[in-house]
Amino acid sequence: MNGCAEAPNARPAFVKRVLERLTRAYGPVRPWRREDPVVCLIGTILAQATNDGSAERAYRELRKRFSSWAQVHAASHRQVQDAIRSCGLAAQKARAIKSFLAFLMRTRGRFSLNDLRRPGTDVDAALAELTRVDGIGLKTASIALMFGCGADLCAVDTHLQRILQRLRIVPPNASPARACRILRPLFPDGRGIELHLQLLRFGRTVCKARRPGCTTCALRRLCPSGKPSVCT
Ligand code: SF4
Repeated sequence: MNGCAEAPNARPAFVKRVLERLTRAYGPVRPWRREDPVVCLIGTILAQATNDGSAERAYRELRKRFSSWAQVHAASHRQVQDAIRSCGLAAQKARAIKSFLAFLMRTRGRFSLNDLRRPGTDVDAALAELTRVDGIGLKTASIALMFGCGADLCAVDTHLQRILQRLRIVPPNASPARACRILRPLFPDGRGIELHLQLLRFGRTVCKARRPGCTTCALRRLCPSGKPSVCT
């Protein structure tokens, strides 16, 4: 998409301006370190629809009860569900974790995604492969590839979806998956993770779901939604 009535700001130049203004106004994002992609993907499953604190508690409990991914793979669905109960949607998340580990055994013969860290990895093929696993959506797969493999992607969660809609970079009714696809060709090369982290912080602190801080927002001159109806 390159600008249309519903998303007139779906343009690379606009996205670049947003990124530059956010960086100037709120500072650079914290440096991120590359994580193990399997840990990253399972952590992202646990973080679905909850906060970081309860996802971390569930992850620690999972690792305390099972000393290896092989043990989690061998455990029953109920045992995994019990271990991660604290993060909510435990039955669904346990199913996704077990499906993912079974997928790794089937496709790699071990609990590793290190093959996707090689230079020249086909990111689209990797996304397609991971999203075929039951319970792994585009956001979860993208985050694992970004923070686990260094892929130049910008995963879209509910914060990013809301901001992109308000800025009319994506249409008002775009789902996170559609918003992610629209955004992908628009951000500057090599800056997908940086944009993701900038927008995430901005969504948590300024452009909140309720009562966005439009009056002091660094993007208010760019934003078609920064008006009283949204500001209240
Ligand atoms: S002006 Fe308001 S709606 Fe627009 S980006 Fe800023 S906080 Fe969000």
